[in-house]
Amino acid sequence: MKGLKLAALNGQKRTVIDVGGVRIGEGFTMIVGPCSVDDEETFLATAVAVKEAGADMLRGGAFKPRTSPYAFQGLGLAGMKILAKARNLTGLPVVTEVVDPRDVRWVVDYADVLQIGARNMQNFSLLREVGRTRRPVLLKRGMNATIEEWLYCAEYILSEGNPNVILCERGIRTHETYTRNTLDLSAIPAVRELTHLPVITDPSHATGRPSLIGPMCNASVAAGSDGLILEVHCDPNKARCDKDQALTPEQFAAIDRNVRKLHHFMEDEQDAQDPSGSAQWNMHDICGGYDLQSPGACGN
Ligand code: PEP
Ligand code: MN
Repeated sequence: MKGLKLAALNGQKRTVIDVGGVRIGEGFTMIVGPCSVDDEETFLATAVAVKEAGADMLRGGAFKPRTSPYAFQGLGLAGMKILAKARNLTGLPVVTEVVDPRDVRWVVDYADVLQIGARNMQNFSLLREVGRTRRPVLLKRGMNATIEEWLYCAEYILSEGNPNVILCERGIRTHETYTRNTLDLSAIPAVRELTHLPVITDPSHATGRPSLIGPMCNASVAAGSDGLILEVHCDPNKARCDKDQALTPEQFAAIDRNVRKLHHFMEDEQDAQDPSGSAQWNMHDICGGYDLQSPGACGN
């Protein structure tokens, strides 16, 4: 990918993005909350519960890009105000989606991180607009996008002067219908060898099934993800958007415990092998001694 002028790794240090004291790309970041901001009481209750369960940041959509124009589209400005209240109450920074370039200039007043959703990954005027701010941007991979197309979208944002881009693998469309999408785990180490940008995973949209989210969280950590974004609702049956994939705060707490343990284990392994901390993840010991750095090393 020779055309990546700003996103390419090229031996430079990995980018760490500071969002109100949460350092994305250093340690492990958990971004948690409902798909949409449904109403104030529910959102604040969920925010408090997920903070107690281990969340580092909150998520919640005030603008929802929906398949049907008749489905709940989000609360808009009223939703942003609820996000601001939740931030004050919990102290956690908030991530929220912006869908229209015309809204960027005021949404930056509410969002600590601007999310660009999968459906808007190649909305180039939106990418340029968020690129003209200095707010961190969470750039989701489009459901039909190649890794190359995704990284060029990051390049659009960077080329406007905003260096704060976080990539998010959220599953791609394949022939499989049992899962909502197919989590492309290989994209995580791929973007880590191509770019210096942090990359997180969204197993909620990738699987669409609560029972599969925990295992895919663990797999994401093992693949080298810098964090997770998860949909959690204090009363999933009442969620106005994506209720079938919403976890309860208790289910999230169990995932959080496992993921943190696994991440510490991975860090210890890495420190033991590379005390300078300069190498990428090396899974050699963890994966039973196969040399995963050399293609074909498994011999079958
Ligand atoms: C979301 O995060 O709620 C969302 C709509 O995600 P995606 O853009 O990945 O479908
Ligand atoms: Mn959702």
